[in-house]
Amino acid sequence: ATASGGVFVAYSEPKANGVEKSSETPQVNSRKQRVVVLGTGWAGTSFLKNLDSSMYDVQVVSPRNYFAFTPLLPSVTCGTVEARSIVEPIRNIIKKKSEEIQFFEAECVKIDAANKKVCCRSNHDVNLEGKEEFLLDYDYLVIALGARSNTFNTPGVMENCHFLKEIEDAQKIRRSVVDCFERANLPNLNEEEKKTNLHFLIVGGGPTGVEFAAELHDFVHEDLVKLYPMVRDLVKITVVQSGDHILNTFDERISSFAEAKFQRDGIEVKTGYRVVSVSDKAIIMKAKALGEISSIPYGMVVWSTGIGTRPVIMDFMEQIGQKDRRALATDEWLRVKGCENVFALGDCATIHQRRVMEDISSIFTIADKDNSGTLTVKEFQDIIEDIVIRYPQVELYFKSKHLCNVVDLLKDSGGDDKKDSIELDIEGFKSALSHVDSQMKSLPATAQVAAQQGEYLSRCFNHMKECKDNPEGPLRFRQSGRHQFRPFQYKHFGQFAPLGGEQTAAELPGDWVSIGHSTQWLWYSVYASKQVSWRTRALVVSDWTRRFIFGRDSSRI
Ligand code: FAD
Repeated sequence: ATASGGVFVAYSEPKANGVEKSSETPQVNSRKQRVVVLGTGWAGTSFLKNLDSSMYDVQVVSPRNYFAFTPLLPSVTCGTVEARSIVEPIRNIIKKKSEEIQFFEAECVKIDAANKKVCCRSNHDVNLEGKEEFLLDYDYLVIALGARSNTFNTPGVMENCHFLKEIEDAQKIRRSVVDCFERANLPNLNEEEKKTNLHFLIVGGGPTGVEFAAELHDFVHEDLVKLYPMVRDLVKITVVQSGDHILNTFDERISSFAEAKFQRDGIEVKTGYRVVSVSDKAIIMKAKALGEISSIPYGMVVWSTGIGTRPVIMDFMEQIGQKDRRALATDEWLRVKGCENVFALGDCATIHQRRVMEDISSIFTIADKDNSGTLTVKEFQDIIEDIVIRYPQVELYFKSKHLCNVVDLLKDSGGDDKKDSIELDIEGFKSALSHVDSQMKSLPATAQVAAQQGEYLSRCFNHMKECKDNPEGPLRFRQSGRHQFRPFQYKHFGQFAPLGGEQTAAELPGDWVSIGHSTQWLWYSVYASKQVSWRTRALVVSDWTRRFIFGRDSSRI
């Protein structure tokens, strides 16, 4: 028996293969619906924290039994904060819930949406029968598997580069930096060899690469040069970026400030170069403009060029006809396209938004039931309300043009408010809203998006029972083709780019840019407040204080 639970009762949408999906009817089911959550990162943890677990039988699968506060990973690479200060055991988080949530430390290796099962493999020793794999059945599947580092299949990257994605990566980098200094300090190396050992290369000038370069610069100049005075003049940090500027997703003012600051600090920024291969001694790169090939010897390379798809997601996308995509396509309600009761959020998913105009046209078509080409003013009013619920940007547009009501809007789109019924002027209306489409950009792969999606989805799950008991829903959602929940809407609260030397740049909502020492204090307070528990908050703040007083620890353990 299917166990739909009747969440999305009133919604129907054509399937990818053209077969119309029938409206689901709520089912009476004595057992609790089973929710399987894959992943304990930003999206999965935010979903679990906000879910009313008394309503479901919840099982969580992840190969790591903790949540990691990734924005502080660059600080872990240099010992500004300790690794254990930014992780919270997932069992600490779920034990606070009213009902028991089961956690399995394992990796999901296959998603079988046709049979509503996931196949998982434990990281631990096999059981007595020699099995390390187990199957979990689900009624609802929440996929929050994140992404992996993208090497763009560049030869030698996997073997020779460090990545900065997981806690283990940051710990390895910390050891490797100290290794380079210890090696360069050995008496049997000549000056050239010492220089090579102390050349730190960062491939990728995005926020992670830039923050790591800044952290490393501070670590070297505030702590390591005091301990290794004989090699102080041999250290070099280089950032290689394929675009024309570093931090090119940030405001231009921030990008220019960062480049100027790095130049003052002696961090070399090489823009317009693509790394084509990495050997154990040097990177080979190609200038994008002239095509000449050059090689740079290094002591350590950190590869930070963006994210790619996890194999289990690639396999799943192939099964459901979403091959050749970077991430799972979902609709605005985070439902995976072409699958029933499967949701995807965070870095492993992208919301595939229908074009606003297509949607607006279909809303007009639904409203014009008798195909007469006319609507009453009341019907028109309902349409506008529906459009505004779906696309709050449209409401902003109304406000920006001082259009306060339907009559104003009608005039703006060339309609006539004197009549009782209105001739449909879809084209006029479309042109009045034509700029809105350009505002619908795809969402960035950030913790902010992942956490908001987790919270949104848990709210939908928490209201499922209410929807089941009142299947007709609020008046405006009754017609078929509509949905009971508002679509997911992302709220951007700004982004930070720490640049070292107690200076940070921040891009805040409303086109505000703030750079400097005071912004660093804003960064400290925001990141302290965003910690998932009081325990990690206390640990992080005490690590910062320790660093201010005693400096960073350079032991290689
Ligand atoms: P993740 O947080 O990566 O979680 C994925 C989860 O899935 C993990 O628990 C993982 O163990 C689990 N998993 C993986 N494979 C499997 C499997 N096969 N089966 C089961 N579970 C599996 N974003 C910001 O907004 N601000 C920042 O300042 C910022 N700084 C960052 C700094 C660094 C160094 C990095 C790497 C990222 C940063 N990000 C930042 C981005 C942010 O971390 C990601 O966007 C966010 O982690 C995405 O959340 P997620 O839940 O989709 O994935």
